[in-house]
Amino acid sequence: MDLSAIPPTPITHLSETEAMMADSVSRFAREVVLPRVREMDEAEAMDPAVVEQLFEQGLMGFEIPEEYGGAGMNFTACIVGIEELAKVDPSVSVLVDVHNTLVNTAVLKYGSLEVKKKWLPRLATDSCGSFCLSEPVSGSDAFALSTRAIRTDYGYKINGSKMWITNAMESKLFIVFANLDPSKGYKGITAFIVEKGTDGFSIAKKEQKLGIKASSTCVLNFDDVEIPKENLLGEEGSGYKIAIGLLNEGRIGIAAQMTGLSMGAWENAARKNNCG
Ligand SMILES: Cc1cc2nc3c(=O)[nH]c(=O)nc-3n(C[C@H](O)[C@H](O)[C@H](O)COP(=O)(O)OP(=O)(O)OC[C@H]3O[C@@H](n4cnc5c(N)ncnc54)[C@H](O)[C@@H]3O)c2cc1C
Repeated sequence: MDLSAIPPTPITHLSETEAMMADSVSRFAREVVLPRVREMDEAEAMDPAVVEQLFEQGLMGFEIPEEYGGAGMNFTACIVGIEELAKVDPSVSVLVDVHNTLVNTAVLKYGSLEVKKKWLPRLATDSCGSFCLSEPVSGSDAFALSTRAIRTDYGYKINGSKMWITNAMESKLFIVFANLDPSKGYKGITAFIVEKGTDGFSIAKKEQKLGIKASSTCVLNFDDVEIPKENLLGEEGSGYKIAIGLLNEGRIGIAAQMTGLSMGAWENAARKNNCG
């Protein structure tokens, strides 16, 4: 078949599936999230029932293939979902964003077959994830990170701390960037999977924020955290490439969250003016 005869879909248009996704997430946001927004914001905590519903609706596994229990959709569908959620609650939206665009993508793109088999079904159905790169003295300059990893007979041992980690209170899986060989500079940075409950791993402090308060943002400590070899994500020393690649998608997710937030604010203001 001569594919050149088919005009490409303009990027300003959603496909039928993406438009249906936008409608169904919008309905979910209004019916399930909206009644809880104020309470969650005041409590500075995510309602676990909302997180459970996000999994049930397939919103935590947009791009995870159906064979692993995900929705098997594309990146645009995911972005549309993030935007629709943000119109109602940017906290719920960022939880879905970080989980899908950073964590799920990391496992999909860089996980070994064993890692995929173990984690993708859980990420799609019941286990939230966090992406742990930033540190107190390495934000924009992320690759100056000082968290260290060393090889052990069992696998790797991690020491250090991370800051501003989204979803930390809800997550069961943490993708952690640490330097395995500081003599190589940023080329020593390596990505690891750390499971909640691993000895020496703790959530040290939850930040009190001015907005988007229901989304947890925490300090994490790693004190001789030993993880098995299988928890290496990608190859040793490829962490900086993995982080850059993931952040390219993550930034589009955050842009969708902010676009949704402003559209939601505008729509609310317009509705109130009409009623007034
Ligand atoms: C709510 C929230 C959630 C977050 N979630 C996560 C998460 O889940 N995982 C994670 O790893 N991190 C997370 N972060 C951290 C976030 O990625 C960092 O805040 C970000 O990388 C910026 O780093 P910083 O805050 O240290 O600011 P800085 O790097 O100190 O930057 C401060 C200002 O200086 C400017 N600046 C910095 N360097 C230069 C330069 N060389 N030239 C000119 N200007 C410069 C910046 O543009 C900025 O305006 C989160 C942060 C927040 C606030």
